[in-house]
Amino acid sequence: MNSPDTTVICSAKGCRAAAVWVLAWNNPKIHTPDRRKTWLACEEHREHLSQFLSVRSFLKDVVKLEEWEARES
Ligand SMILES: [Zn+2]
Repeated sequence: MNSPDTTVICSAKGCRAAAVWVLAWNNPKIHTPDRRKTWLACEEHREHLSQFLSVRSFLKDVVKLEEWEARES
């Protein structure tokens, strides 16, 4: 995760908006069950990105970025 003073950008292709959400996901074919990959999403792309992950059954959690950072520390 980036340091708190760096603006984190949405992971959606071509999007330069500041991320507000963290999507935690896991691909059971390549990751151990406790492993979490993260995508960042702005308000606009949260639905799109979480849909992409959930149809593949990869999506584990969607949390606000500030909440995620609080968990990590
Ligand atoms: Zn976006």
